[in-house]
Amino acid sequence: MDSAATHCPYCALQCGMSVTAGPGAGDPVEVAPREFPTNRGGLCQKGWTAAELLHHPERLTTPLRRGEPVDWDTALGYIADRLTALRGAHGPDSVGVFGGGGLTNEKAYLLGKFARVALGTSQVDYNGRFCMSSAAAAGGRAFGLDRGLPFPVTDLDDADVVVLAGANVAETMPPFVSHLRGARQVVIDPRYSATARAAAQAGGLHLRPTPGSDLALALGMLHLAVAEGYLDKTYVAERTTGFDAAWRVAAQWWPERAERVTGVSVADQRELVRLLAGARRRYLLTARGVEQSAHGVDTVSAWINLTLALGMPGTPGSGFGTITGQGNGQGGREHGQKADQLPGYRKIDDPAAREHVAGVWGVPAASLPGPGRSAVELLAALGLPGGPRALLVFGSNLVVSAPDTGSVRSRLESLDLLVVADLFRTETARLADVVLPVAQWAEEEGTMTNLEGRVLRRRRALAPPPGVRTDLQVLSALAAALDARRDPAWGPAPPPGAFPDQPEVIFEELRRASAGGPADYSGISYARLDAGEALHWPCPALPSGVAAHPGTPRLFLDRFAHPDGRARFIPVEHTAPAEQPDAEFPLWATTGRVLAHYQSGAQTRRVAELAAVEPRSFVEVDPDTAARAGLADGTPVRVVSRRGAASAVLRYVTGLRPDTIFLPFHFGAEQTANLVTNPALDPISRMPEFKACAVRLEPA
Ligand code: SF4
Repeated sequence: MDSAATHCPYCALQCGMSVTAGPGAGDPVEVAPREFPTNRGGLCQKGWTAAELLHHPERLTTPLRRGEPVDWDTALGYIADRLTALRGAHGPDSVGVFGGGGLTNEKAYLLGKFARVALGTSQVDYNGRFCMSSAAAAGGRAFGLDRGLPFPVTDLDDADVVVLAGANVAETMPPFVSHLRGARQVVIDPRYSATARAAAQAGGLHLRPTPGSDLALALGMLHLAVAEGYLDKTYVAERTTGFDAAWRVAAQWWPERAERVTGVSVADQRELVRLLAGARRRYLLTARGVEQSAHGVDTVSAWINLTLALGMPGTPGSGFGTITGQGNGQGGREHGQKADQLPGYRKIDDPAAREHVAGVWGVPAASLPGPGRSAVELLAALGLPGGPRALLVFGSNLVVSAPDTGSVRSRLESLDLLVVADLFRTETARLADVVLPVAQWAEEEGTMTNLEGRVLRRRRALAPPPGVRTDLQVLSALAAALDARRDPAWGPAPPPGAFPDQPEVIFEELRRASAGGPADYSGISYARLDAGEALHWPCPALPSGVAAHPGTPRLFLDRFAHPDGRARFIPVEHTAPAEQPDAEFPLWATTGRVLAHYQSGAQTRRVAELAAVEPRSFVEVDPDTAARAGLADGTPVRVVSRRGAASAVLRYVTGLRPDTIFLPFHFGAEQTANLVTNPALDPISRMPEFKACAVRLEPA
């Protein structure tokens, strides 16, 4: 029996686990928790059951063309013919590429390079736009660098107070909760979530702002912090700039005004500020609840402003962080599958970055396309004049996970060519002209970067089933097929060997491409990771003869990453959500995750034990709200917005705001929560407004 020390395939906690496979194909595969700092030997039920998908009967093991099995040469030749013809007729941007935050670093890197070099397209983005882009942009502008947690998770063990703004860690990443046990917790969430309940029962606080009002709450907190004499004047003077401008806005947000807009009482606001200011070791963490908004960047900035006023970021034992969601949500946004980025977290419109990366890739910098459309805008342009006419999708189930998915489905259906690489015939794969079966986590090598910026080794425990290839093999073979059909008029061809399929070879190239960038991996190697070193980026390569760089578990202790070393207060003002409840759509809808499922549910809905826990979608409703709509617990209902309707079974809950309902987003077809969500975008991050739209409830 081979056993591999690897990590869970799902969320960004990347719990350590051992995977043991028998010698024969199809032999049972066992998962066991492994001691690792983020999970300390714990796993949630998603991790425990992850191996069930490896031999799942619905697993794809042959390429499909319009639903019919074909061999790999036929499938790849067909795709290459179609892409070459489209490029010849309509130019390189007629082909789009869509990646995912679950892809390994090597895949994210090769996918971005494949788009820019093999296809020559600027139209590449990924589903991290639905996840981390607001927090990333806010962290970048405040601190000069975006790393979700700029400290190890284990630092939270010693906290006196932890504020969780829009995070439901008790369900999304249960082992994370073990790091909070010593702290008084404050949970900010319109739902009485499992996390809020645990905090309240342990003597903490639960604040329930109106959906879309988090920014106003943060402004009110900053007002109170200053008005009640908690401003850390020395820290603000020595380590920050911009306080006066931020205060000019917050000064207008006296607590009664904040209460009127958010519904959070002045007493609770005061208690939160008093707790945070009075603690010696304190942390404030945001997550999707406050970030998935058309004002997500400003909202996170408002919370960062509060922590700066209290002297928290970059102070030992305290800090600000954001809890990354997807397994490689951190690494996935660093290595070039994002429309505006090149590897190493470089900006694609930075001439020096282009020169550096083009040099590593062996192509002229001028041949690299510029920034393309962001995810929602890319999807909205599919099949329309000037938009992509073909889309290649890796690691994303768009017709479940994208906002206003009814429109996304029509755009996908309008394409000349849709190619999906996945494990199963997901809802998106069902629309594809060609589906390519790819390997799973325990069948491949690579690296992931967890929520604290630590680079981890994903290790292979068993071979993929016959007929299945890794994503890297797919990209490598497709690049070769495109090269064979390349029109010399398109400019210089990629150099020979530009698209290897061996993970370690690709990681070595990624190291060079990231060298000197904000997310510098050049000092990290498979050998160091395999030796058990805990390496958080930045970890630059150092000259030979000098001890290897130890990585950077804690950022900002001496200086922030802006050239002057100071963090920035950003003046931000509250703006209401893009859509307000009215007589026709009187309720707020918000969406999120539940314990038994992960993201679009493409994997967890196929795990019998998890499907038995949550077999179909539900909508959480306060009993009085349900009664006003003439609906009872257990009733099949439709949740209707201006964009569409989602089916669900009504579930009474207590503690949820009576003006708000909650839908999980893990279900497909008519149960897809994103049939109702609003694709309004944040002007900076292009994050959609998943967490606040106007709906009504109807009997099904
Ligand atoms: Fe750990 Fe997340 Fe996997 Fe659960 S889903 S076992 S919390 S990594």
